[in-house]
Amino acid sequence: MSNIKKNNAFNINIKDIVRLEDINIKNSFSDIESLKFLDDPDLFKMNVDLHCKYVPNNFLFLDGKLQFFSKKICGRCLEEFEHILSLDFTEDLKFSDSDTFINIESLINENYWLNVPYVYVCKDDCKGLCDICGTNLNKKQCSCDKEKKSYFFKDIFDKINKN
Ligand SMILES: [Zn+2]
Ligand SMILES: [Zn+2]
Repeated sequence: MSNIKKNNAFNINIKDIVRLEDINIKNSFSDIESLKFLDDPDLFKMNVDLHCKYVPNNFLFLDGKLQFFSKKICGRCLEEFEHILSLDFTEDLKFSDSDTFINIESLINENYWLNVPYVYVCKDDCKGLCDICGTNLNKKQCSCDKEKKSYFFKDIFDKINKN
C-alpha cells in the first residue's frame, strides 16, 4: 500500500487485534474530510459497525454493517432527498508480519460503489413528473390529458407495425 496515512480512522491496528483476538469498531463520521476517500461529494455521514477478529496465520476477519447517508436528486421527481445505503460488509484480510495496520478505506470505497443504485429514487412509489406539463405528481394532480399521449404512441406503433 503506497499512500498510507497515519492516524487514519480506517486503519485497523493489527497488534491490538492479535493481542485482544477481536475488537469492535463502532463509529459515526460526519465530517467531509474523513469521508473524502469515498469520492462522492453528496455523502454527509457514514456509520461503521464492524466486528474484527484475528484468525491464525495472519488473517483478519471483518464482518458487520456500513451505512452511508447522502443528499441525492430523485431520478423521477427531481426533488432532493436523503438517501441511506445500508450494506453488510464481510471481508477476509491477509497481512504480513511486517504490517502494523491495515487500511480499509479502499475496501469500503469498493463496496460503496458496487452497491449504489443505478438511479436514485426518493421512494418506491414516487409518482414522478407529468411528462406533459412537468408537475410533481407526488404533490398535486395536473389536468393533462394522458390519454392523448397514449394515442400518440399508439399511432406510431400502428405505423411501425404496418411497415
Ligand atoms: Zn421522487
Ligand atoms: Zn401534467
